Amino acid sequence: MEHLSVNAAQAIVVRSVQLPGIESVKLEQCLGRVLAEDIRANRDQPPYDVSAMDGFALRSADVANAPATLLIIEDIRAGDMPTKTVQAGQCARIMTGAPVPPGADTVIRVEDTQAVSDTQVQINVTVKPNNDIRPRGEGMRNGEVVLQAGMEITPGVVGMLAMVKRIDVQVYRQPRVAILSTGDELEGLHDPFNANKIPDANSYALMAQVQVLGIQPVLLGIARDEPEELRQYLQQGLKYDVLLVSGGTSVGVHDYVRPTLEALGVQMKFWRVEMKPGHPMAFGVAADSFVFGLPGNPVSSMVCFEEFVLPALRRMMGHTRIYRRTITARLTHEVKHKHSRTEFVRVMLAREEGSYAVTSTGAQGSGILASMSKAEGLMVVPAESKGMAAGSSVTVQLLDGMAYQHEAGGEY
Ligand code: AMP
Ligand code: MG
Repeated sequence: MEHLSVNAAQAIVVRSVQLPGIESVKLEQCLGRVLAEDIRANRDQPPYDVSAMDGFALRSADVANAPATLLIIEDIRAGDMPTKTVQAGQCARIMTGAPVPPGADTVIRVEDTQAVSDTQVQINVTVKPNNDIRPRGEGMRNGEVVLQAGMEITPGVVGMLAMVKRIDVQVYRQPRVAILSTGDELEGLHDPFNANKIPDANSYALMAQVQVLGIQPVLLGIARDEPEELRQYLQQGLKYDVLLVSGGTSVGVHDYVRPTLEALGVQMKFWRVEMKPGHPMAFGVAADSFVFGLPGNPVSSMVCFEEFVLPALRRMMGHTRIYRRTITARLTHEVKHKHSRTEFVRVMLAREEGSYAVTSTGAQGSGILASMSKAEGLMVVPAESKGMAAGSSVTVQLLDGMAYQHEAGGEY
């Protein structure tokens, strides 16, 4: 317990949390949630062989010696059903998505044809069977599982749910999250300005970190460093699935959070992790909730959220991908490392051939919130590292926004 590594602490957290259950939501509201049921197709899609082009449905043998002139026997639009069978020397005018008529085995696009009269068309090219035909069931087959429980609902998943006409969807319930700041020195966002106080940044930074996950947390406010007031706030917070408390988790004489939580029946699993920033970092389990005691320093609080609260919340939301994506990239400068704690350096990333160049955001003090406001990633310096030379290959956890870039991508 005295020397708990980040990985070991993460494992305790992830093992302890439970999924809060399942609920039904409307299709319009399900984006970002996690499916709690397998979804099966309830029809073949397309329901029959359909044309992929505006053009003519015909018998490929008839155009083996193209050009050839064919008789147009009917017009088939998307939504129409063919009424005739295409015989030798005949074709049907067909629109994208319309069913291929019996007798025809291929489709040729209008650009490869030439009108002769209202009822006749000249086909200019030869064509193989099944050209520009989307076969029945190409998109999905009746009865097959098209979406699995555990999948995150992305726009593509929403489209598929609409395709199978799901009005209501079973998803994992979201944990209810409460946030509490502690400290006599704190000045609330709406309190009058007092130059001697410390603005409560943590409540809002943590709020935003929770919001990024698609959850709207409740801000409980600021508890003073006074045991009875703190007890009342913490008791209120324990009514939520997850309580985030920042400050007061250290070993100072006014750091009452840990003993007060214990007095309220919270079983503390750990209260210190070998990391920098974020040494005083507590996690406890109560009857119906999980409590994270985050360090008061704003950067530490945010980094501890990233490493412990984020995977916990994502697991509770039903996600299986619960950690930040990491990349391997090139460090542009030396990073010193003397102690034996895992360090999370706030970094910026610049694209370079085949990878990214990684550069520190600058001063890394745990009270210097600018290091977080500039950060595109957290570079991991392993506990046992003796320091990293410029040019080293390093691991970076990508923060939000890293799914986007300035340049238009690809070659087109
Ligand atoms: P603590 O963990 O309570 O000893 O706090 C450590 C440092 O973090 C102190 O300098 C506090 O003023 C600062 N701090 C604590 N809570 C907050 C907060 N909600 N917003 C900004 N700074 C804070
Ligand atoms: Mg404090």
